[in-house]
Amino acid sequence: MKIKVGHIDYEYTEVEIVNRQDPYQVGECDYINRAISIDKTRSKKEQGEIFLHELIHSIDEYFSIGLKEKQVKLLGHGLSMAFRDNPSMQKLFVDKVGGKINE
Ligand SMILES: [Zn+2]
Repeated sequence: MKIKVGHIDYEYTEVEIVNRQDPYQVGECDYINRAISIDKTRSKKEQGEIFLHELIHSIDEYFSIGLKEKQVKLLGHGLSMAFRDNPSMQKLFVDKVGGKINE
């Protein structure tokens, strides 16, 4: 699956080993190879959280924001929390921000 961030298409993959040098790494956003990898042995909930985290990294890179790892972590946790606590937000984002509803 492709994840488009601006003009960059990232290849999204779910893998058993994200980084052979770091067995504890559960996600990765590789700017050079344009790939986002997620540890598929994690629960679906964790995979979603990891994906949000890596997506924030890709947006940070795209706009050269310069977020620190702690800021990426907290933004990821905050977005995960807000999505989990407000299931109806999915419709807001997919339909309105995505341009499916023209209201
Ligand atoms: Zn990170």
